[in-house]
Amino acid sequence: MAQKLIQPINNARLTASYKWRDAYKRQFKATHYGQDMTGGPIVYAQGNGTVAFAGWDNVCGWVVGIVYKDCYSWYYKTVSDITGRYYHMADVRVKPGQRVTKDTRIGTVGNTGKYTTGAHLHVELDTDTKYPNYTPTLAGNSNILKKGTRGAKDTTVDPMRWTHTKASAPDNQTIVAGYGSDWVDPRDAKLPKI
Ligand SMILES: [Zn+2]
Repeated sequence: MAQKLIQPINNARLTASYKWRDAYKRQFKATHYGQDMTGGPIVYAQGNGTVAFAGWDNVCGWVVGIVYKDCYSWYYKTVSDITGRYYHMADVRVKPGQRVTKDTRIGTVGNTGKYTTGAHLHVELDTDTKYPNYTPTLAGNSNILKKGTRGAKDTTVDPMRWTHTKASAPDNQTIVAGYGSDWVDPRDAKLPKI
């Protein structure tokens, strides 16, 4: 039975979409392989999974990586195992090997690490679950996260195409677009609710 991943924070405001337009690239001189959100401040796992890594990364601050099995994409109508990576948190509340659900608190939205200009959560989803700590976001290896991908191609995916917003109780999730269309795809805030 496939699972439907939900948003990692409630009361979410999108501040930068996945690979979206030019504003992010102009400011940070890099492609955005994830999606930025403010809100929470509690960060939850996005579904049933296992913690692959958790701790202090020299570049991305307090980070957690989770492998989720059999995730359904409402966009592609396919099922895939997905790695979720969460950066810049104020703290980390889980340990490697720990089983998590959507109700497990994995951390708190924060402003830790380099290349962050305010409290937000960077969410990166990747179909590579064999090497969950490899991220195209990094230009060099850090202590937890490693640069690039193990294969030839970029295996990250658009988080909005692989997640749902759980508007029903007890999560009551909401998601809105912030910062204007240079930063956020306005369609992202209107995606499927469950
Ligand atoms: Zn980001």
